[in-house]
Amino acid sequence: MSPNLESGPLDELSVTKPVSVGIIGGGQLGKMIALDAKRMALKICILDPCSCCPASSVSDELIVADFTDEQAIRKLATKSDVITYEIELANSKALIDLASKNHNLVNPSPETLHIIQDKYKQKSFLKKNKLKVPSFEIVNSEEELFDLCEDFGFPVMLKARENSYDGRGNYLIRSKREISKVFSRFAGGGRGGEKEEERQLMVEKFVNFRQEISIMVARNRSGQITSFPVAENIHEDHILKLTIVPARVSERVAKDARKMAEKALSALKGAGIFGIEMFVTHDDKVMINEIAPRPHNSGHYSIEACSVSQFEQHIRAILDLPLSEPRLLCPAVAMINILGPRNYVGPYIISGVTKLLSLPELTLHIYGKKISEPKRKLGHLTLLGKSMHETLSRVDTANKIIKVRPLRENKGDLN
Ligand code: ATP
Ligand code: MG
Repeated sequence: MSPNLESGPLDELSVTKPVSVGIIGGGQLGKMIALDAKRMALKICILDPCSCCPASSVSDELIVADFTDEQAIRKLATKSDVITYEIELANSKALIDLASKNHNLVNPSPETLHIIQDKYKQKSFLKKNKLKVPSFEIVNSEEELFDLCEDFGFPVMLKARENSYDGRGNYLIRSKREISKVFSRFAGGGRGGEKEEERQLMVEKFVNFRQEISIMVARNRSGQITSFPVAENIHEDHILKLTIVPARVSERVAKDARKMAEKALSALKGAGIFGIEMFVTHDDKVMINEIAPRPHNSGHYSIEACSVSQFEQHIRAILDLPLSEPRLLCPAVAMINILGPRNYVGPYIISGVTKLLSLPELTLHIYGKKISEPKRKLGHLTLLGKSMHETLSRVDTANKIIKVRPLRENKGDLN
């Protein structure tokens, strides 16, 4: 085993006995954590249900198991000096059990994960800590949903409390007529008379926001807190498509957002990086949409555009190393998600690469997912710019060039 992290701050890194980081989840976030960890010759062990997950290409060991598999999580613990997670589906109860025996082992704290996993618990926690969130209520029946829609006024955002991401567990109810259909489909028992597993639901008042913004904030185990610049997020079809930094908000909004993000972090236990998603209303008020206790899609720009990336900051935080004060290295940056096309599931090709890479100051990330699915995040592009105006015009150019298309064996794509 490597130097015990319980004995105090980490001051020596050994190549012979490297510090070992266990990551639950081997998607693109796990891969990018591993890539930064590898720069410091740390050892990476990934737990993921898929043996060919994106992080498998850059990890030392892989445990193939479900994120919730208690035995596999215990096995990961025997191989790790510190365990972290890149996905909220990790088994928080098993992690709480492990942390009760070794306080520093799991970061961010599994108690924080437990709160965040349930959108209702999370919002209640934020509200209790005097952080502004959209009005919300739990929904147990169709009748309750009718009443709440009346109270909130249409449209209303219905959300699955757990196991949802990339907007897949959200449904916008636009009118009274939709309530019954949506409720039965969402709560289970909908399709073909088959009883699906019941889902716990909540509703939120629809926020007619002017902008969506986010801030990555990190805290190390010693309590040092640092935040990244404010990012502005543009969604399409409930999924993040574009992040631009700096966000086009006033200095006061940026200050309020940063204050709110740091206050949220102070309320939550544990070390690591957190993504704080926020809405900015038309009268310049800031409220929290939700918190991710992990690196976040809207923080990818930091790899090329900041003095420290969100991934390195996360590693520093969980190993209790000093955090670096993140600084933007260029006047503007854009991050474009490369998403799987609609109506296609299967192997794919990303085309337009030569033309794309001939654009200045552009970096292409391809995660290595074998299969494309509608709106699946397959990679991203980062564009560094001289001004936001110039960067956004290059975003348009890049979007026109890059295409994800089906890989068809009979077209000779496999040769
Ligand atoms: P992600 O994984 O992208 O964070 P998610 O499944 O966790 O998504 P949310 O963050 O709750 O879902 O919502 C996804 C998007 O839906 C938000 O970024 C926002 O655009 C929109 N949205 C969510 N809640 C509201 C709301 N109360 N009012 C208006 N829009 C909302
Ligand atoms: Mg979200």
